[in-house]
Amino acid sequence: MSHLLTDILSTKINYLTGVGPKRAEILREDIEVYTYLDLLHYFPFRYVDRSRFYAIREIRTDMPYIQLRGVLRHFSEVGEGRRKRLTATFSDGTGSIELVWFKGIKYMRDKLQEGRRYIVFGKPTLFGSGYNIAHPEIDVEEKAEQITGGLTPIYHTTERMKNMGLGSKQLQQLIYVLLNQVSASLTETLPSYLLATYGFLAYPEAVRQIHFPQGVAQLELARTRLKFEELFFVQLHLLGSKLERKARFRGIVFPSVGHLFNTFYKEHLPFELTTAQKRVVREIRQDTLTGHQMNRLVQGDVGSGKTLVALLAMLLALDNGCQACLMAPTEILARQHHHTLSEQLRPLGVEVGLLIGSSTARQRSLLLPRLADGALSIVIGTHALIEQGVVFHRLGMAVIDEQHRFGVQQRARLWEKNAETLPHILIMSATPIPRTLAMTLYGDLDISIIDELPPGRKPIQTLHHYDNNMAPVYRFLRSQLAAGRQVYVVYPMIEGSESADLKNLEDGFELFSSAFPEECVTMVHGKMKAHDKASRMAEFVSGRSRILLATTVIEVGVNVPNATVMIIENADRFGLSQLHQLRGRVGRGGEQSYCILITGTKVGDDSRRRIQVMVETNDGFEIAEEDMRLRGFGDLEGTRQSGKQISLRIANPARDGELIALSRRVAEQILERDPDLLHPDNHILKLRLNKLFPKEDNWSAIS
Ligand code: ADP
Ligand code: MG
Repeated sequence: MSHLLTDILSTKINYLTGVGPKRAEILREDIEVYTYLDLLHYFPFRYVDRSRFYAIREIRTDMPYIQLRGVLRHFSEVGEGRRKRLTATFSDGTGSIELVWFKGIKYMRDKLQEGRRYIVFGKPTLFGSGYNIAHPEIDVEEKAEQITGGLTPIYHTTERMKNMGLGSKQLQQLIYVLLNQVSASLTETLPSYLLATYGFLAYPEAVRQIHFPQGVAQLELARTRLKFEELFFVQLHLLGSKLERKARFRGIVFPSVGHLFNTFYKEHLPFELTTAQKRVVREIRQDTLTGHQMNRLVQGDVGSGKTLVALLAMLLALDNGCQACLMAPTEILARQHHHTLSEQLRPLGVEVGLLIGSSTARQRSLLLPRLADGALSIVIGTHALIEQGVVFHRLGMAVIDEQHRFGVQQRARLWEKNAETLPHILIMSATPIPRTLAMTLYGDLDISIIDELPPGRKPIQTLHHYDNNMAPVYRFLRSQLAAGRQVYVVYPMIEGSESADLKNLEDGFELFSSAFPEECVTMVHGKMKAHDKASRMAEFVSGRSRILLATTVIEVGVNVPNATVMIIENADRFGLSQLHQLRGRVGRGGEQSYCILITGTKVGDDSRRRIQVMVETNDGFEIAEEDMRLRGFGDLEGTRQSGKQISLRIANPARDGELIALSRRVAEQILERDPDLLHPDNHILKLRLNKLFPKEDNWSAIS
């Protein structure tokens, strides 16, 4: 492969005819298109059928983009200043609609002529008694021949792009020019044996068909090929990193299951481990015998007992002369873990340290030297643990609770805590992640699944109530309080509407305080000082306060077994996994627990679906799947934090599960036979990997 040829594709986008510096900047900023190749890989998000014309009479509210043919009449400019707009009537003999422009009024006026025939393309919206199309694409009818080529791609564009002449149609035009210019340099990226085995379209053909499909069948082939390729290189990268890490990094060997582990396990465990917990502990035990660093993600539903698994893993480290730490995403959680672990380990005489952002200088000066000389063997904390000044004597096991909030980089900083051998890393997921998503995001980790809840749990009953009928809810709360139970009431706190949300919470506080005058009602939210939060939480944990109003600061991990009711206000504003996570705060003791979702009477379709799913199932894995279906991939919690380098442009884990599984299988097979991709057939893969994942952690660069 000639270097000159491939290099054309890395040409900066401003050199493309029709782009220039201004538009290049917008392309970079708005859609992350820096090079020719980036533009070629800016795929349409859908296609419209422009082979057909609609009659105005046929227009319905639910139509996507449609194409009309007719005559333009009666321009008029209405409104003043910023509200000024240009309207025109467009008729085709079956009816009329209005075309509207808010911008470029003068330009459109000059360009269009009353009485002339045009082709109009756009999305109709119902406005008053008739339809209108805002900012339609409009061409004189004579151009019809050129336009009606069947499937027309639609590209995502931003408002700013449209204003700068970078609308969907113009993007397509640019891509057309570019494709013709670089077609000779589009070389295959997959080995020919893969194309042959799976019947994939060749790369240049796939790129052409995705932008200019000749038909539905070709488009499907192109999409499959490009999705596979995208997913496959991610898998190859992740699996490669995993293999490379195993080969390169030594891990501390824990040869013995010793005194602490055994004593705790045999004498202080208040219950028997579930079969799933036992299996995961065994997996961890195996990992720590290999001499390689463990990197394991433990997935389990809320309440499945991940903390206990973490504790046993830490004891394993202690028994083998190592220290252990547990890193939690919030101070509240860190304190909570500190509290429970201290209690559990007291009979063993093991002290547990706490290091959080709000630890005082004095607390630090007492703690840090003892961590450094090894006198202290377990420390619980937040991000504060990965700060520079924190030095361990011999860190052997680092547990990260609720992975969702930590990025890859933070994980890596934990590794640096030991000079020669790396600590084993155990990651606890907050909620289950669908299998395909886990493969995509955490494909470089070993994954354990706790697919079983401790016995004797009564499934939480979930109910939906409207906020205009709260009397029965209060009545129910009264009966629960009378039985000695505690209640959470959660309010949304969403970026962008903080002050309104805070007001909601405060109003709720008034409401609950006056509805339950005999109770001590407590309120916590993210804007409070850490120690205030902690002391309010402590009031609730101790049972002195029995009603806790909170924003999502209690979202993860808090454990108050006596709490049996979770009320979620404005439940429609939470995502599914968040709702499930919140619900998991109750049902932790032996009593029947309840989750009550409160919404207004007007709820959108997606929200209604989420509530329905919550009412119907308690299974976190099922909920995670549904969440992914509803929200797609990009918006899922944790997707962004989990690894910047994995951005998918065309594949979608919510829909492409089979291709993900296939791509992983193929990557595994290839790496099994040729781990360093040295075979000539696989050379092409190595080149591509280096290009796609050029970081210094690129495993294929090290060998
Ligand atoms: P999560 O997986 O959500 O972090 P936790 O570790 O907080 O769950 O465990 C939830 C509760 O279940 C805790 O009160 C814990 O003591 C209890 N628990 C854990 N394992 C078992 C078990 N095998 N049998 C009974 N209760 C258990
Ligand atoms: Mg937990």
